[in-house]
Amino acid sequence: MLARAGARVLLLDRARFPREKPCSEYLSPESTRVLERLGSDVLAAVAAAAPAHLTGMKVVAPSGAGVVGRFETFSFALPRTRFDTILLAAARARGVDVREGVTVEELVYQDGAVGGVVARATGSGNRETYRARVVVGADGLRSVVARRLGTIIRTAPYRIAFTAHVAGARDVDDLGEMHVGRPGYVGLGPIGDGVTTVALVLPVSEAHRGARFFEELDRFPAVRGRFDPRRIVRRVLATGPFARWSRRPVAKGGGALLVGDAADFFDPFTGQGIYSALRGAELAAAAILESLATGGGAGAGLDGYARARRREFMGKWILERLIGVAVGWPALIERVVGRLARRPQLADLLVRATGNCVPARAALTPRVLAGLVL
Ligand SMILES: Cc1cc2nc3c(=O)[nH]c(=O)nc-3n(C[C@H](O)[C@H](O)[C@H](O)COP(=O)(O)OP(=O)(O)OC[C@H]3O[C@@H](n4cnc5c(N)ncnc54)[C@H](O)[C@@H]3O)c2cc1C
Repeated sequence: MLARAGARVLLLDRARFPREKPCSEYLSPESTRVLERLGSDVLAAVAAAAPAHLTGMKVVAPSGAGVVGRFETFSFALPRTRFDTILLAAARARGVDVREGVTVEELVYQDGAVGGVVARATGSGNRETYRARVVVGADGLRSVVARRLGTIIRTAPYRIAFTAHVAGARDVDDLGEMHVGRPGYVGLGPIGDGVTTVALVLPVSEAHRGARFFEELDRFPAVRGRFDPRRIVRRVLATGPFARWSRRPVAKGGGALLVGDAADFFDPFTGQGIYSALRGAELAAAAILESLATGGGAGAGLDGYARARRREFMGKWILERLIGVAVGWPALIERVVGRLARRPQLADLLVRATGNCVPARAALTPRVLAGLVL
């Protein structure tokens, strides 16, 4: 977005692409609109990458009782190795100077504002200083930029995720599935080519169970027997704990801001992280372009980014926290699933709100919240 608007952009990533990312690899439906705005070539490339289409989400309680909520449209689901490589290629095509295998280690300051980074090349080990009018920390859950800015707060719930790709899973169709158990939950869904992405999420205190990945899947009544361990096509990747947020998404003295998981992440249950990263990037690009246009790199325009994020994401932050905490209470989920099964319109509304298709605040009214439990 920045390069397209004429800014000179240097993109440093410690990985070499295609690279794996522990994720359930579902793009919430509203992500499609951001991809469209990024460019018809980007959307066409994602659509052509043989993605599965999800038409809704199924939530299954510990007893095995389930409820389905439908989107009005559909969402793409595809391996992150493909999706992220498409985004990287789009950045290159728009003139971004992309350097892979370069790890950012430190921020450098000029007149009290962030003025660049020090980064190390993986191969040679050489360190170099890169100066920039604005540094964007888009470096994920363990963001070094956020840590150096000193803005990170880690919060409960403390959970660990184990994710894998398995071929030939039984009864996987056009739905994402979330199975809540005692303890933890499983998320699964098709990602094309007969492959299912499956994530087991556990409290940190139960993380040792991750070593028995397939046995643990069988603990969930509506998952049991659907996966053949011999048909695993990508090894199990682990990540977590993940709940964290930055006190400020903009550096105090200016010159740097945070997007995506680097700015905040709560829990993967609602599957909104990719949309937040993409939409947050749009807000960041607008703030940076305004700041550059007014002659500053560390200017007031960047503070507008924090306000824009609050306006955009406040409802989502509340909804994902309510849901993320609720999934730690199996009895509550049992009750909510029972209520939703009798109120399909409410199930659709909730699924659409977490898919960012309707504003989250539409699901936060007293009437809706009461309808979930009473
Ligand atoms: C188990 C699980 C399942 C999930 N499922 C979904 C889902 O189905 N749908 C959804 O929308 N979201 C999901 N999410 C969330 C989603 O994966 C993230 O929110 C999303 O990837 C955030 O994007 P990002 O660009 O901020 O970070 P990332 O995708 O993590 O990208 C960060 C990049 O920064 C690079 N990097 C890191 N450190 C450095 C450094 N020091 N120097 C240079 N480069 C660096 C990394 O190599 C990486 O390429 C899930 C998360 C988890 C944990």
